Amino acid sequence: MITVEQIAVAGVVGAGGAGFPTHVKLSGKADTVVINAAECEPLLHKDKELILHRTEIVVEGLARAMQLVGAIRGVVGIKKKYVHVIDTLRPKLVTGMEIAFLDDAYPSGDEFILVYESLNRVIPPGGIPLAVGVVVMNVETACNVAVAETKPVTEKFVSIAGSVEHSCTLRVPLGVSLNECIKAAGGVTIANPAFVVGGAMMGYVETDLSNPVTKTTGGIIVLPQDHFIVQRKQWDWKKTVRVGRSACDQCSFCTELCPRNLLGHPIEPHRAMRSLGFNVSAQSDVPGTVFCCECNLCSYCSCPEGLDPKNVCAENKRRLLANKQRWENPPFRPERAGQQMLNRKTPTTRLIQKIGLAGYQNKGPLEDRLLEVQSVVLPLRQHIGATCIPIVQTGNAVHTGQPIAQRPVTDGKPALGADLHASITGTVTEINQEYIRISA
Ligand code: SF4
Ligand code: SF4
Repeated sequence: MITVEQIAVAGVVGAGGAGFPTHVKLSGKADTVVINAAECEPLLHKDKELILHRTEIVVEGLARAMQLVGAIRGVVGIKKKYVHVIDTLRPKLVTGMEIAFLDDAYPSGDEFILVYESLNRVIPPGGIPLAVGVVVMNVETACNVAVAETKPVTEKFVSIAGSVEHSCTLRVPLGVSLNECIKAAGGVTIANPAFVVGGAMMGYVETDLSNPVTKTTGGIIVLPQDHFIVQRKQWDWKKTVRVGRSACDQCSFCTELCPRNLLGHPIEPHRAMRSLGFNVSAQSDVPGTVFCCECNLCSYCSCPEGLDPKNVCAENKRRLLANKQRWENPPFRPERAGQQMLNRKTPTTRLIQKIGLAGYQNKGPLEDRLLEVQSVVLPLRQHIGATCIPIVQTGNAVHTGQPIAQRPVTDGKPALGADLHASITGTVTEINQEYIRISA
């Protein structure tokens, strides 16, 4: 049986979010493991493609995770509209495994929403899935767990979408540049492109395409510079405050449709918006903002005035956390989930129309041949936790899968993090405090 240490040594971190080291997650005890196959970010398809093309490996990853945490139940949460994916997966599941059929709504891939929709359990505010006996893993993470004994993490699956010649899912070595990924999708088809990395709703605008694909890069979406999503992601704090102060009519739509509020958590973005007017610095503390998952639903879709409650919540949250201001025993009304959640979900089709993505190819077939590249840049920190320490030197020859950096060790104990491996065979040509470059 695989051990959590083997998973750490293989460098496995959450492939679909902030990059939490998977071995730590799998060190806990839970009765259920949920595979997050909701893939609710518009235009991204890599998780579905992985289930279609790596079905047995995904199931093996789920089985190993169940063994490690002692779970008796394994659930794959996937939107019920993906009938062909479900038909591929269902015959491969073994005893104790099942499918949770999700509605086509955003943000069904948020861990809290996923656990509620799949298991009818509500994670308390500020909690983690383990608080209700659950471990959640991304589809690609499950694949990496399945092969961790023999194959460290050296590859990434990335969806390329938007204004490119052909939308697709690529299989690339870690550290390849974003630019090479876009070229592999046939290149950009518009004159004034902007590049959103990670997803239209929760991703960020990237201006330097020489930056590398990391263990957490899920997608690249090419959009015109004047696209709604690109414009909104570039608002600065001054603009958020100015328009928020002048135009928020306290209608509360942002709160009424907030997915975390619908779960019974005390997050009320309209109160954060109201706080903007309380003082000149726009820095009144609204404690419930620490429970915002920054899904952007309120800012991009719910607010009829086109304001930015998400960033007001996020700014408030960061300040509260920096000042170590916690809300002990916040009010929690899980009984509010249920009917309320059912009636106020935001359908993905509506969201796609509202944020101006309806005209783009909404598919991403897997191109399963590993992209060939001449060099890679591997950041020493691609995950939550400590920066890795290089164990190679400039000029060393390395081969794919060879360890090149490790978690720092204090008092014989490795720090929180995951080890790093060469993603191509070649020579180490540069090492600095941030990355290792390997050239073929
Ligand atoms: S939905 Fe918009 S206008 Fe209404 S309270 Fe929220 S931020 Fe203000
Ligand atoms: S971004 Fe908005 S909708 Fe999403 S959790 Fe935060 S407040 Fe709620």
